[in-house]
Amino acid sequence: MIFEGLSDKLQNAFSKLRSKGKLTESDVKTVMREVKMALLEADVNYKVVKDFVKTVQERCVGEDVMKSLTPAQMVIKIVNDELTKLMGDVQSKITFSQQPPTIIMMVGLQGAGKTTTSGKLGGYLKKQGKLPLLVACDIYRPAAITQLKVVGEKLEIPVFEMGDKQSPVNIAKASIEFAKSNKHDVVIIDTAGRLHVDEILMQELKDIQSSVKPQEILLVVDSMTGQDAVNVSESFNEALGIDGVVLTKLDGDTRGGAALSIRAVTNKPIKFVGMGEKLDNLEPFYPDRMASRILGMGDMLSLIEKAQDAMDMEKAKELELKMRKNEMDFEDFLTQLEQIQNLGPLDKLLELVPGMGAMKSQMGNIDTNGKEVNRTKAIIQSMTIEERRNPQILNASRKKRIARGSGTNVQDVNRLIKQFNEMKKMMKMFQSGGMMGKMKKGGF
Ligand code: GDP
Repeated sequence: MIFEGLSDKLQNAFSKLRSKGKLTESDVKTVMREVKMALLEADVNYKVVKDFVKTVQERCVGEDVMKSLTPAQMVIKIVNDELTKLMGDVQSKITFSQQPPTIIMMVGLQGAGKTTTSGKLGGYLKKQGKLPLLVACDIYRPAAITQLKVVGEKLEIPVFEMGDKQSPVNIAKASIEFAKSNKHDVVIIDTAGRLHVDEILMQELKDIQSSVKPQEILLVVDSMTGQDAVNVSESFNEALGIDGVVLTKLDGDTRGGAALSIRAVTNKPIKFVGMGEKLDNLEPFYPDRMASRILGMGDMLSLIEKAQDAMDMEKAKELELKMRKNEMDFEDFLTQLEQIQNLGPLDKLLELVPGMGAMKSQMGNIDTNGKEVNRTKAIIQSMTIEERRNPQILNASRKKRIARGSGTNVQDVNRLIKQFNEMKKMMKMFQSGGMMGKMKKGGF
């Protein structure tokens, strides 16, 4: 889980405050010492931590926290505010040019995720109605051009390339002409990376920059490299004057030092974060939501957006109607399971629910990895359409065939049918107002 270590330690520090009715200055100091340790262990830049702790401490002492009836909540709120501020306060968006195409130049070290992120960003903008063009300017890494083409094909986004014999500046210039004559409104240039920051690379990037004058230079850095990512950001910013950062591999980063330091050190915002290898695992970066996640307060807004993105609203409406009329069959049940699975793995979703992050360890028997859902789907998929629509025809020999087909046994099939029938019974009660009636009378 992202920021797991930091999140646990901060919550632990605050839990000690919760038991106290009133706080003294020394209580605040003790807690802030723990917060400081937690941030340093998360690999946050030392100077950033020092300033952060100082500000929080001053606010805690100054804002009547100690006289308050709920001092712990007030301390947490101040930490939340300051974490948000540290990461830039508000979301920083991409600047689009008044005169298309908007040119976005992706830069960064090799392996940071530049090519993958170029594709992800293209996909993200395409979903917003743009017509992006991907441009292959990394002529040194042997597989880079092919990799971008594969990504482009998957996303159905055209890729402009001229092989590896032309200079990156020529390729970039030609791509802009191509974009103009083919009505592309966004051009995403994937540039070359090196293992370390070096002069020749920087010069090449400066040459591309001065020849195509991008609206946005986005630096891609790997969050798992912690403070190195921060140093790399400083170097690229000094050389090119970047406009923002895309922090990749945050899905595997349990510490979070880069996410918390980059803005404060470079004064440049994180615009997007990479949350996985799949091409739709790119999210806009919201400082306030990230602070909430770190403090274990969940992120309901992201959850709702995910649901809107993944659910087919037309299908959802149809299902709702069927449920209300109690006409739901196994076909509908399957559709519903698929929609839920579109949202992604349950454990990742639970992280977004307030308080759930902390409870995860206690949820051993909940089907967080989707195994049970997949078994249920397999059983339904082994039924014929007729059986899915009319479950009452499921006799012993049909059940045996279904069990064989789905790699389960007859008991599993029976259990699913029983659960399904119980669900329908329950819906009927709701429908007739039975359950509601009982609830109102205090029957439950
Ligand atoms: P480039 O050399 O900077 O172009 O890097 P690539 O785009 O080839 O990415 C390097 C590796 O990082 C690939 O295996 C990617 O799948 C992986 N990667 C990129 N972004 C993410 C991310 O957000 N999360 C995870 N887990 N892996 C990522």
